[in-house]
Amino acid sequence: MNRKKLIVLGSVNVDHILNVPEFPKPGQTLTGSNYQISYGGKGANQAVAAGRLDANIQFIAAVGADELGKKFHQQLKNDQIDTSSVAIVPEVNTGVALILVNHQGENQIAICAGANATVTPNYLQQFKEDVQHADAILMQLETPMATVEEAARLAKQHNTLVILNPAPAQKLSDDLLKHVDIITPNETEAEYLTGIKIITDADAESAALILHNKGIQTVIITLGSKGAWVSYAGKGKLVAGFTVKAIDTIGAGDTFNGMLVTALLEGKSLDLAVKYAHAAGALSVTKSGAQTSIPTRKQVDEFMQLHNKRE
Ligand code: ADP
Repeated sequence: MNRKKLIVLGSVNVDHILNVPEFPKPGQTLTGSNYQISYGGKGANQAVAAGRLDANIQFIAAVGADELGKKFHQQLKNDQIDTSSVAIVPEVNTGVALILVNHQGENQIAICAGANATVTPNYLQQFKEDVQHADAILMQLETPMATVEEAARLAKQHNTLVILNPAPAQKLSDDLLKHVDIITPNETEAEYLTGIKIITDADAESAALILHNKGIQTVIITLGSKGAWVSYAGKGKLVAGFTVKAIDTIGAGDTFNGMLVTALLEGKSLDLAVKYAHAAGALSVTKSGAQTSIPTRKQVDEFMQLHNKRE
């Protein structure tokens, strides 16, 4: 099968994860447990999700020339990612994320950009043709905003589909938004972008309309275990997710995005692509960590088959 080409542009972070009984208050020190170091960063997570879920994917990113950066680079290759556009940059550290996970499986995250800050518009120019010839580009907001804006502009000049996962929440220019075809905020990011706190379907609909009015055709607001509000050209509905026992939700949104775009590039309808993304997202919350919890395509297909039989 001639698979369509996906580019993921984004961050690479080494995650330092600690379980805590509750999040510490300002000035408070808490003793945690189960300290782990694992590979993360929203860009890398989404690239790995796409690679593991069977997309034809090239990653544009950077790591430091430190030990963790070099190992990470190799790991990306092992996940079927074209890493020819992942730079190993001397004299900077690989990006770092400090992650606390509480008893409810919720997380709090602080990051240091490191090599991610070297993914500048100038760096991107080397891969201009790759972006223009790709079928889709998937981005998040842990790389410099000017690079995201430039990539979206380049992509749209050649009809490359632009998918933006606006995480972590940041202010977005109208110029960027008009180049975005599909936006995938979670509830917090949707509230940040629209000012609407999403409690009911009507709230989700209003938030989606604000984003449509910025020129975005498809708005998908992910709602954790509830699923997602999926709105195309102003008409929206709730697409329910799957019920699973959540262990931790780190990387759920990234897995969702990786599967969503992969399924769309396979020609699946928007609703079916969202269902696949829910299946991948649900499977990811049943395991701990970011990339460690991303399922394989075989696991997602089996999960979908099982649920189709039950329905
Ligand atoms: P983020 O991880 O970006 O905060 P969400 O929490 O909205 O995003 O989760 C993204 C997607 O992952 C959801 O739309 C759903 O498909 C899946 N998901 C997340 N949490 C759960 C859960 N507890 N049970 C089942 N699926 C989940």
